[in-house]
Amino acid sequence: MSDLSALSSVPPAGVSGLHRDAVLKFFYGPMDCGKSTLALQTNYNHARQGRKGMVLTKHDRSGGPRVTSRIGLGGDALEVVDDLDIETLVRGTMPRLDYLICDEAQFYTVRQIEQLADLVDDCDVDVYAFGLASDFKSELFPATRRLFELADEVFRLQVEVLCWCGRPGQLNARTTGGELQRAGEQVVIADTDEAPVRYQVLCRRHYRSGDLGSKAPLY
Ligand SMILES: [Zn+2]
Repeated sequence: MSDLSALSSVPPAGVSGLHRDAVLKFFYGPMDCGKSTLALQTNYNHARQGRKGMVLTKHDRSGGPRVTSRIGLGGDALEVVDDLDIETLVRGTMPRLDYLICDEAQFYTVRQIEQLADLVDDCDVDVYAFGLASDFKSELFPATRRLFELADEVFRLQVEVLCWCGRPGQLNARTTGGELQRAGEQVVIADTDEAPVRYQVLCRRHYRSGDLGSKAPLY
């Protein structure tokens, strides 16, 4: 198991002290703000430099193990299930990974987020996580909370999603039959046109008042 043990140690900093630590970066924003697009672009940029990476996702809009963006980009990915041990997976991957792309990270378990942090610190793997901050009740997802707590750097994505009123969209509303829902399971996937549950990005004002507008795009 010498290969595995070699993965677990970070080369010591030289006398120059120029060793660069791996990083855990978290990019967040509401639905439609370009998170998956940035995840795919980040993967492309690193792979082009010859770095070895892996792309993970959970409950992608495609319904399959892929990262897809609403503007039409897509790439294969590994589906994260609740009992997946990401740390063991990465430690057992040869050649060793340089980075991980983690899309839809709000759906991961808290334990999986902690595994990402351990991979950064113990295996020198850069982790780029992308996800929603808050659920349909405007409360943080548990995995997102853990990312805020553990990430080296947190970025709010600057691509603005507009509420129907034109203000910056900030919160992810869940609707059923045209009515805003404020109670229910945290994770309900709206993956078909027939699904009664839809999601809509609203500004804080209209999220709090429950006004969905009349010509709002529904997903
Ligand atoms: Zn609004």
